[in-house]
Amino acid sequence: MNKLSTSKETQLILKKFDFKIKKSLGQNFLIDDNILSNIVKAADVDKDTIVFEVGPGLGALTAHLSEAAKKVVAIEIDRRLEPILKERFQAYSNIDIVFEDVLKADISALIDEHVTNGERVAVVANLPYYVTTPILMRFLEAKTSVIETIVVMIQKEVAERLNAEPGEKSYGSLSIAVQYSSIPKIMMTVPKTVFIPQPNVDSAVIRLDLLKQKKVKVNDEDFFFRVIRAAFAQRRKTLMNNLTHAFGKEQKEAILTRLEQIGIDPKRRGETLTIEEYAKLSEVLLPIGK
Ligand code: SAM
Repeated sequence: MNKLSTSKETQLILKKFDFKIKKSLGQNFLIDDNILSNIVKAADVDKDTIVFEVGPGLGALTAHLSEAAKKVVAIEIDRRLEPILKERFQAYSNIDIVFEDVLKADISALIDEHVTNGERVAVVANLPYYVTTPILMRFLEAKTSVIETIVVMIQKEVAERLNAEPGEKSYGSLSIAVQYSSIPKIMMTVPKTVFIPQPNVDSAVIRLDLLKQKKVKVNDEDFFFRVIRAAFAQRRKTLMNNLTHAFGKEQKEAILTRLEQIGIDPKRRGETLTIEEYAKLSEVLLPIGK
């Protein structure tokens, strides 16, 4: 394998192509082969897996993935990386690089285009930290049921939110969104020293196994998430205050009645409700909130 992942080699290529790292694009390149191969292992990538990678950067993770996978489809926003990736991967036949903003890409269309023989689909990436949550949400909400596993490096502080439980400080709307559609697990924590340049925060690799059936049944997913966002809008306020703020003062009595109907104390805070309680809450609020 044409490895580029050591610190020295990374520096060399940056110099050769006179590539100026853009912090605004979350460009923190991985320089540790052990971590790279552990990420690939954490996703159980094999020759029946098609991997969708976000942000190949200089291609360090892409190279490891291509060795283990049937195919790698890498989506990169920064066109300046094209000559680097072209030269590095000219002899590779199982890597497709798509230059596009992943937040604008049609994920299901990309998957349909590349996954034609019922292969296993995994998303694997060292994510740009400025857009971790929107990228995760994009894959979790993609209108496709074939993504099996997502393994990504993210900020440790965000990783801790994913499997947080009601009542914990890091429990929030992201915890609920992730637990609604997957089983999250922290696979390893990663020190800052394995990146060039070093990020300001510690990192972790997480794995999400997507559920075939969502954790709870709701009739209107958009409204379910609207209720959750409303309940967490101001963490110090009670559920009642946050809901009234979101749905209007004139709905106060109606909200109270419905909370009573499902046995939820209006003085509770949003952070104490379980995902099942949010499902019930969104169902009873739907007629007045929609
Ligand atoms: N995979 C490489 C590695 O591990 O060394 C680079 C990871 S770096 C943390 C994040 C990469 O995502 C950068 O290459 C950056 O240009 C790219 N990126 C940032 N925003 C993006 C977006 N919206 N869509 C696609 N790629 C993006």
